Amino acid sequence: MRHTRQANLGTVTIGGGASVSIQSMTTLRTANVSGVKAQIDALVKAGCEIVRVAVRDRDDADALPAILDGLSIPLVADIHFHADLALLAIRHGVHGIRVNPGNIGGEKGLEAVVNAARKRDVCIRVGVNGGSLERRFGKATPENLAKSALDKLSMIEKLGHANLKASLKASDPSLTLQANRLFAARSDIPLHLGLTEAGPPLSGAVRSSAVMSLLLSEGIGDTIRISLSGDPVREVLVAKTLLETLRLREPGGRVISCPTCGRCRLENLAEIAGEAETMLLQTGRPVTIAVMGCEVNGPKEAKQADIGIFGGGEKAVFLVKNRPPRTVPTPHILSTLKGILADWPETREP
Ligand code: SF4
Repeated sequence: MRHTRQANLGTVTIGGGASVSIQSMTTLRTANVSGVKAQIDALVKAGCEIVRVAVRDRDDADALPAILDGLSIPLVADIHFHADLALLAIRHGVHGIRVNPGNIGGEKGLEAVVNAARKRDVCIRVGVNGGSLERRFGKATPENLAKSALDKLSMIEKLGHANLKASLKASDPSLTLQANRLFAARSDIPLHLGLTEAGPPLSGAVRSSAVMSLLLSEGIGDTIRISLSGDPVREVLVAKTLLETLRLREPGGRVISCPTCGRCRLENLAEIAGEAETMLLQTGRPVTIAVMGCEVNGPKEAKQADIGIFGGGEKAVFLVKNRPPRTVPTPHILSTLKGILADWPETREP
């Protein structure tokens, strides 16, 4: 396990032995306060622990106080090109800012931002990106990404600010992997992991998970964002699933479903499994649900789950822990499941 120092982002601790936190980013124009607040609510409900918004101009910066009002998780302002917007975001009370050393307005601009952040103990993420590496570091190689991050972080530390984290991202998985390993070997500053511009939901989730699994299993990474095109709630769900799979957090509810084959006797199995997952998300119940297509693996998997459903033509069998088996007509599967989940305890029995 890599030993990192601690960074503080509002109520969330990053590094220093804290559990790996999940973050995401809103996709709407930040000046659209009601839209952004609704998106953040959905992210929080899905399990997001830190949220970032893009601050492109003065209108976006001026929206920050309204977004912060009543917010239950830390807010990070993502700023490129304009040190003055970073200063304004800090004045408005954001918990963290993300700056790219390649475009924050030279050393003077960065110095002003660091001084303001130090006074309010605002966490700064130095986010180095393969696509916008400072020119003087040349080509985007693992060594140059690590050097750029270390150079800026050392400058910020000399200005007396220690509440820091770093990210080294590229769209190339191998470059991201190697750059993070190099950085982790040379610094104890906590790392935000991500694969930038990872791609559409399916391929992006696979690429990100592959890189992050390797790094996290080496003890590298203190907070993660799975960047995916589209609805950011999906980013949080993938991140949660990844951390649970790696046993870096307690498993919550999950659905096990068979891939189906020519033996499948449960029509619409994929839809039923998808709906079951949505119900788990909505209810937050820590339940394992198995949805299986036939009697080959169905009964055994169903028995091991908290709620097992396996198919047989017009009827499906429900095996619910500590209850006698029950047969229901297949069109009633989802309503039956909804009723069982409504009565399920909110916490897992020890
Ligand atoms: Fe096929 Fe049955 Fe296995 Fe599902 S459980 S994949 S339907 S054999």
